[in-house]
Amino acid sequence: KKITIAIDGFSSTGKSTVAKRLAKELEYVYVDTGAMYRAVTLYMMRKLFVSNDHVNEEAIIRHLPFINLHFEYNDVLGYGEMYLNGENVEKEIRYLEVSQQVSKVSAIPQVRKMLVKQQQEMGKSKGVVMDGRDIGTVVFPDAELKIFMTASTEHRAQRRYDELMDRGDEISYEDVLQNVKDRDYMDSTRDDSPLIKADDAIEFDNSNYGKEEQFQKVLEVTKK
Ligand code: C5P
Repeated sequence: KKITIAIDGFSSTGKSTVAKRLAKELEYVYVDTGAMYRAVTLYMMRKLFVSNDHVNEEAIIRHLPFINLHFEYNDVLGYGEMYLNGENVEKEIRYLEVSQQVSKVSAIPQVRKMLVKQQQEMGKSKGVVMDGRDIGTVVFPDAELKIFMTASTEHRAQRRYDELMDRGDEISYEDVLQNVKDRDYMDSTRDDSPLIKADDAIEFDNSNYGKEEQFQKVLEVTKK
């Protein structure tokens, strides 16, 4: 029987790596909800409704109906890439510039309302692994399996830094660390669905495990 798997936690805890592999192993659909918040943010950045020193909530809310998001499965990557109004933005949404604005946009209740609704629609048919911040608490409070991933701030910054370096971005570790800290703060102090662990979620601390070990542990609880 297919179930819904919710994977929540702070950024760069290795959530998406585990979620993607799990989806592959179980032949489930993987949904990266962070990519959806990032795509909305990218749209608003291009319109100049959000930048380092301002955020125009009214304009953001007014433009939400013009945003069309969808994932398109990429055979080579083995997961769905994010499309914003028909454009593949999978790469661009991961840039540090977007990471620096995303928490401001995700804090707007109307943005959350729209994306939560779309996520619930995507998970309706079960057999889905969804990763985010509020999946086990808000999007699918009835998910059969909830996983909450944690890792130390330094581990997470290093992880993110390595990823960005692999892509050839020129950034400093300090900037990445600062961004991880800023997002933690904003994501956990938001009024509307802050990041909290669901009571029935199983917690995994990713700091001291290798990728393989981590995955096997998650797979173990999934099979129960
Ligand atoms: O998971 P990722 O780090 O890509 O998420 C980017 C940002 O999107 C988070 O920092 C958070 O502000 C927002 N987000 C959210 N709710 C989710 C997923 C992501 O608010 N379910």
